[in-house]
Amino acid sequence: MDLTSATWTDVADREFDLAVVPVGSTEQHGPHAPLGTDVLTAEAVADAVADRSDREIVRTPAIPIGVAEEHRQFPGTMWVSPETFRDYVRESVASLAHHGIDRVVLVNGHGGNVDALREVGARLTRDGTAYTVPFTWFDAVGDHSRDMGHGGPLETALLRRIAPDLVQEDRIEEARTGAADGWGEWVSHVNLAYDAAAFTENGVVGDPADGSAERGEELLELAAAALERLCEAVAERDVSSPERRDGGT
Ligand SMILES: [Zn+2]
Repeated sequence: MDLTSATWTDVADREFDLAVVPVGSTEQHGPHAPLGTDVLTAEAVADAVADRSDREIVRTPAIPIGVAEEHRQFPGTMWVSPETFRDYVRESVASLAHHGIDRVVLVNGHGGNVDALREVGARLTRDGTAYTVPFTWFDAVGDHSRDMGHGGPLETALLRRIAPDLVQEDRIEEARTGAADGWGEWVSHVNLAYDAAAFTENGVVGDPADGSAERGEELLELAAAALERLCEAVAERDVSSPERRDGGT
């Protein structure tokens, strides 16, 4: 059920196994891809699992602004602090739990959100509010995951599949020319750069020309299948808290 188009009476009359909450970011994705890329991709993966799963799934509206200060040199990028983001996500999930929807998968489209979402999931779970786990689609697409850049092959491929009108095809060469090969500047396993602009001229990492719509279809299928397995495990999981150990005396 899509919460945006449902009525409250629709919600009242149904039992749900879990909710999927798309979480994105509004940030630069190079000269060729929209600022809303991470919202669009997270929504597409969440929609795909809601469509294919036999479970009763609530698909909520997306959370569109995340932890993205690392893109602050690029106009149009928006961000909130990790504290604000954690609070907002946590309280949003708590409102679902208030209605008895207390198993939640956060379907994430942005790398900068990963650490904060894991913390939010732990807090909500340990508090007994809702069993909550984050899922990041580009970590769950098999060997493709190695090619994850930024506005690079994976995101461009998925956009060409789900929102082709928003890919500026006449700027692909420009995007390639100013792109970095990899994310960050690494020395002794430490990334010396805090901001993307330190290592990419135009915000792109990786080659968007390697991102065909066919590859996007494969990515969507892999991500949706992985998310479906996760939703099944979340729905089935015994979430009664592990017992405190008493020393056995
Ligand atoms: Zn992105």
